[in-house]
Amino acid sequence: MTTKILAMGAHPDDMELEAGGSLAKFAKRGCDVYLLILTAGGYTDINGNTYYDKQLRDEAKKASKILGIKDVIFLDYSTKDLQANGDTITKVDSIVDELKPDVFISHHPFDSHQDHKAAADIMFAVSRQGRVKNVLSGSTLPYRPNVFAFRPQFFVDITETLETKLKAIRAYETQYKKFGSEVLIEHVKSMAVHYGWAMGYKYAECFEVIRMDDSIWR
Ligand SMILES: [Zn+2]
Repeated sequence: MTTKILAMGAHPDDMELEAGGSLAKFAKRGCDVYLLILTAGGYTDINGNTYYDKQLRDEAKKASKILGIKDVIFLDYSTKDLQANGDTITKVDSIVDELKPDVFISHHPFDSHQDHKAAADIMFAVSRQGRVKNVLSGSTLPYRPNVFAFRPQFFVDITETLETKLKAIRAYETQYKKFGSEVLIEHVKSMAVHYGWAMGYKYAECFEVIRMDDSIWR
């Protein structure tokens, strides 16, 4: 049986930053990896630059192709106002009913961005009573969740897929430019070095385990 992984980001580019190396690695190993993006992503930043839904959607498709993701699902909720409520939970419930993922990856409940927090809450609600057996929370940036709150226990050696992850991040041209282009890439790389050091890997990504069973330890 093929292991199915569902990665759910509040915004386009979240999961590439948080788990791109892991998703690429597992896709390469033959897992079916799906990406669910909860908000359309379009917004105007503090400098007055506007990012359009369609542009971000195209970038998401491009990045997903690079990572080997099987399918991208867009839910188009409005950015900065994502809620974990009956509507969003029911929508994600039905996606989980259809896909039946073995692993669910999303944000951390103590993330500093309200949309990321809401996404974590949606994941917890949808995974209730073992509907998804393996649930992981990641961090987009090193200290995005409070450093004392983010306690990663699951480390993935992404040495073989770091370059693929960086390529996927570069595919988000709008975000790549916004966060300093190659400066962003250097930061992402440094984070992978930092997390890798904990495990003796060259590059790693890490996650806090919310729940894990033995179903994927075959
Ligand atoms: Zn985000």
